[in-house]
Amino acid sequence: MRRFKIDPGRIKGNTCVITGPDAKHMINVLRLKADDRVVLFDGTGWEYAAVIQAISSGEVRLSVHNSRPGLAESPARITVAQGFLKDKKMDTLIRQLTELGISRWVPYFGVRSVARPDAQRLSKRTARWHKIATEALKQCRRSQLPEIEPAADFSAVLQLAASAAVKLIFWEAESAPLRSAELGGLPQGDVFIILGPEGGFVEAEIEQARRAGFQSVSLGPRILRAETATLAAGTLAQFLFGDLGDGQD
Ligand code: SAM
Repeated sequence: MRRFKIDPGRIKGNTCVITGPDAKHMINVLRLKADDRVVLFDGTGWEYAAVIQAISSGEVRLSVHNSRPGLAESPARITVAQGFLKDKKMDTLIRQLTELGISRWVPYFGVRSVARPDAQRLSKRTARWHKIATEALKQCRRSQLPEIEPAADFSAVLQLAASAAVKLIFWEAESAPLRSAELGGLPQGDVFIILGPEGGFVEAEIEQARRAGFQSVSLGPRILRAETATLAAGTLAQFLFGDLGDGQD
């Protein structure tokens, strides 16, 4: 069934009116008509079964029948802090991590981050990441948009992680496997993972993270490209703590 993102609060009583590009898409491309059933989601974790009541030029009026928590949300709240990467790698990562069910994305400037867009470029990038995450949400049937934090420095990332139940920093020079980390069973709280930029971490960052309660862990003896490592780490976190494996029992 087709899914459409609406702004939270767009539903008045049991009616919702969709206008703008989404309405045009529904009318002209998808050729939806009265009595067609769709699912609306507002990005806050809820979704709504709706039926098209009327279509007029540029407007689709729907009656909303019931609401339910989004079915595709992970029980784990996973935060990924990503050392700023070059080119469009961050765009691809926010799409893939949204599909993998992460809850929060924290871009940061590591000591070895080469890409350092200025404030204007950064706000354009952030707006694009929101758009990419919304498209990914529609495609993967999630209903909770991941939070996208403003780009931070490393110390701010560690502060954001202060209350996390599990704190892992994936370090290319570490030999201790993830299995050896003290993971404390199924944490009732945030799982916070940090990945480095293409140039990796400097020792001082690892020391600073350890002092903030992070365990440094390895993704194996091979040096992975940054985007490969982030995807692997996000998947492992969802497998261990979320709904990608036996972590959900
Ligand atoms: N420039 C570094 C070097 O040559 O040793 C490699 C950095 S790697 C391309 C980018 C990031 O991916 C690292 O900072 C780390 O977060 C992660 N990563 C890559 N391979 C890893 C591994 N085997 N174990 C843990 N983390 C890894």
